[in-house]
Amino acid sequence: MNELTIDNAPVATGFEALGISGKLLKCAEAAGFVTPKPIQEQAIPPQLAGRDVLGVAQTGSGKTAAFALPILSKIIGLGTKRRPKTARALILAPTRELAVQIEETVRLLSKGAHISTALVLGGVSKGTQVRKIAPGIDVLVATPGRLMDLVRDHAVILSETTWLVLDEADRMLDMGFINDVRRISKATHPARQTALFSATMPQEIVSLANDLLRDPVRVEVAPEGTTAAEIKQSVVLARTKQKRQILSQMLANPEMKSVMIFARTKHGADRVTRDLERDGFEAAVIHGNKSQNARQKALTGFRAGSVRILVATDIAARGIDVPGISHVVNFDLPDEASSYVHRIGRTGRNGADGIAITLCDPSEASKLRSVEKIIRMKLPISADHTGEPDPKPVPGVQRMQQPANDRKPRESENEGAPKRQRPRKEHHRGQGRPAATARPDGDKPAGKKPFRKRKFGSSGKRFGSKAA
Ligand code: AMP
Repeated sequence: MNELTIDNAPVATGFEALGISGKLLKCAEAAGFVTPKPIQEQAIPPQLAGRDVLGVAQTGSGKTAAFALPILSKIIGLGTKRRPKTARALILAPTRELAVQIEETVRLLSKGAHISTALVLGGVSKGTQVRKIAPGIDVLVATPGRLMDLVRDHAVILSETTWLVLDEADRMLDMGFINDVRRISKATHPARQTALFSATMPQEIVSLANDLLRDPVRVEVAPEGTTAAEIKQSVVLARTKQKRQILSQMLANPEMKSVMIFARTKHGADRVTRDLERDGFEAAVIHGNKSQNARQKALTGFRAGSVRILVATDIAARGIDVPGISHVVNFDLPDEASSYVHRIGRTGRNGADGIAITLCDPSEASKLRSVEKIIRMKLPISADHTGEPDPKPVPGVQRMQQPANDRKPRESENEGAPKRQRPRKEHHRGQGRPAATARPDGDKPAGKKPFRKRKFGSSGKRFGSKAA
């Protein structure tokens, strides 16, 4: 226990000073949670006092313990009597991986405290989940779609759920889960306590928060669109057809110890993985067409360090917390600029250094500009493919300039009313390929339009000359 004394009287520090005590304090400390993170300092005391919380925080900020510890603290005092099929607390997460991770953290934080937990998520059989919940559960972690199924099947009863957490609410919105989230919330106990966490606050999330939270305390740890200072970011200008070769050249660098590569689509992710394997690199891949077991296996191998390279789509990677990722490579620019922030946030965690390299084809110039607007900085160009920004401008190589007459309002000028993000439609195998949505930029014939016509810098020379 962390203990200071003033005039020989002990003064609580760490999590104890926030109101966590007894068995739970011991469990948390045994799990290595000794010094609270800022989001925990802000969010734990009001929740212990029974207040709703609206948290603006990214993955990696420590938000899981910020909502889990107050709930656990209250449940520990309740004893073990639960009604069949009910859950005392419900934590909703947008992706299966994030749900798995949250449940692991809840179990870790409450080890030995006789707290029962269960996971409800798609992609695995319902039977095991239904049996687990049958006697009643303390903490249920779920993705919205499968939970709705089980509620409809009368396998889960939510009317006695008095703690509700919505994690990564903005991503639930992106993924089209918001109506399910509203229905699920309605099914919980009317006098419940609610916490909503989101990395960004688009208007829809503000209205959701207004509808679901009662007089919430707002806690915030990083302004929207910021990226961790420890992450060294750069852009490698590369035509789509050169990206494979450049990526393999990069990966020959032994300093790229643990690398997460992002592709825009499931097909793109599969293709990158196949190409890497052909080039002699072992890589695992996660995306929505992979079975839950395959995704979990890939993640476990990557986490354990037995697989050095993990290729992922944005949605599958959302919320994944793997410590020690040295590099993030964006094989494609994301469709939504905010995904860039989430992607590169996989590295540079817990104060470690991280490197994020983005491969950018001329056809992706406008996406790069959108990213630069939300991170409020120009990304330096790395001409030698190492990801090291050029120390000084390379002669003949000019920064991408957005022509003055092409300037759209900055995203910050639109704050409070961001563009509605449509639910992502990822391409499903066997559905026939919808031309524009499923094609990564890499599918477009390279060089079809000259760069000049795309207003992507002043000459084609800046592309290709170094990369060829
Ligand atoms: P999260 O944002 O909840 O995914 O947390 C990010 C990482 O920080 C996870 O690996 C947590 O286990 C770790 N973490 C969170 N809070 C603490 C803390 N107070 N002390 C040590 N590690 C923490």
